[in-house]
Amino acid sequence: MKITRRHLLIGAAGAGLAAGAVAAQKIGWNRRNFTRAGYVETAPQAPPGEASWMNWSGIERATPRQIAFPGSVQALAETITGAKGRIRPVGSGHSFTGLATTEDTLLMLNGLSGLISYDAATGEARFGAGTPLFDVSEILARHGRALDNQPDIDSQTLAGAFATATHGTGNNLTALHNNITAFELVTADGRIREVTAASDPDLFEAGKVSLGALGVFSAYTIRTVPAYRLKRVVTVEDSKAFLSRLEETAEAHRNFEFYYFPHTGLVASIVHDLTDEPATEDDGTDDDDFLQGLMALRDQLGWAPWLRRSIARSEFPRGVVEDRVNESRVLLSTTRPTRFIEMEYHLPRERGAEMVERVMRKLDQRAEIFFPMEYRHIAPDTAWLSPFNAGPRTSIAIHALASERYDYFFTDFEPMYREAGGRPHWGKLHSLGHAELTALYPEFERFLSLRAELDPEGRFLNAHLAKLFGVDFDV
Ligand SMILES: Cc1cc2nc3c(=O)[nH]c(=O)nc-3n(C[C@H](O)[C@H](O)[C@H](O)COP(=O)(O)OP(=O)(O)OC[C@H]3O[C@@H](n4cnc5c(N)ncnc54)[C@H](O)[C@@H]3O)c2cc1C
Repeated sequence: MKITRRHLLIGAAGAGLAAGAVAAQKIGWNRRNFTRAGYVETAPQAPPGEASWMNWSGIERATPRQIAFPGSVQALAETITGAKGRIRPVGSGHSFTGLATTEDTLLMLNGLSGLISYDAATGEARFGAGTPLFDVSEILARHGRALDNQPDIDSQTLAGAFATATHGTGNNLTALHNNITAFELVTADGRIREVTAASDPDLFEAGKVSLGALGVFSAYTIRTVPAYRLKRVVTVEDSKAFLSRLEETAEAHRNFEFYYFPHTGLVASIVHDLTDEPATEDDGTDDDDFLQGLMALRDQLGWAPWLRRSIARSEFPRGVVEDRVNESRVLLSTTRPTRFIEMEYHLPRERGAEMVERVMRKLDQRAEIFFPMEYRHIAPDTAWLSPFNAGPRTSIAIHALASERYDYFFTDFEPMYREAGGRPHWGKLHSLGHAELTALYPEFERFLSLRAELDPEGRFLNAHLAKLFGVDFDV
């Protein structure tokens, strides 16, 4: 029998259904409203003459004076020098933090997108900085090439992904920015600079993960690898048994991650390995159906943890629930139709196994949580603001529906990560400011000096960056 993801989805939906009859007894819980105060689904209403913007999750919102779409690097330089007030470049708006938010000029690089050149001798490709990752991998495939790794989704632009140290997973695989070999940067004075490790080593290491604070990137040259096919295997099992083999499982596979389903004691591990097997058919299911099942369990049985756990454990399938083969670009990134919010910390690898058990226990202590937790491994690199520049890291990500409360991320989880020496994902929720970041990053002050040199008037600042950098900020 061919085993597909559908088995897992049916298990979750069945669990949700079975829960219904019993849950009716607990009217108090059923009447509970999970929607957080102040939640608004739609973009803000802009005053006449202004634009309206919100990020993917909807928690960052603004009505900028203008949204500019320069179509060439010269036009970009003119926009920067000519714009009134502050400027923030934005990619696909998939960061959860206020990195790009501005009331002045929001700069979108859709016009600087696509392949600029490809060097078959070196395998290096040059792309417009606004190119979305799905286009990057699609274009590379036409040349028989691929990215060596991809994040969970591929909607991010190259510039946006690099600026926040976006990563995939795998013991020996680095975050995406480690493949940059050159970039073109337009600084606050309108100067267009081509930067490599040889031409300007400091700016090169600072620019790979820049938070969009050094200027606006217009192009990147990146290393690519020959296209490769992967076999993806998803296995559901008891968390205790799985955790006892965590390190060896991670070591044994090219890409490794796992999800914990709160209040179930069950995990789904996802591994990818190189293969020459022919591609299999997609079963057409998506993660939304599964999330609906987990939410139904929470909504109907959140008042009875023992029942919630026991129904989940009896209804969920065990063993291999998905076994697929396809090109790396198809399997490594999927879609996330459900809007959520997220906190992800990158912890020293040696603390990963201990910390994930603590996080899983904490998740089980809050009845309202149903969103799976994600655990990944990332190899080190050298960028000044890379969370991975002090050795291999374990990343633990927790999520909540975009419409629901997430204040407990900061009270129940973030202190644990910080105590373990964790560094936050730059694009995901965290509360750190200048003092904490200086302590975490040996090169932080060096980065800030370079930023002040390149942008002495703070034209690329906003409130969020000012907090990170410890500088005064007037709107
Ligand atoms: C559903 C979902 C799944 C995700 N999965 C992962 C994952 O698997 N792994 C992971 O690590 N992260 C993940 N993320 C986080 C995401 O990859 C990062 O937040 C990334 O920065 C988003 O890219 P973007 O193009 O949307 O950039 P934005 O969020 O729009 O911008 C991010 C930063 O880039 C800067 N920037 C954008 N363009 C330029 C430019 N041309 N020049 C200078 N600076 C620029 C912005 O100013 C900002 O500081 C996920 C986010 C979501 C919503």
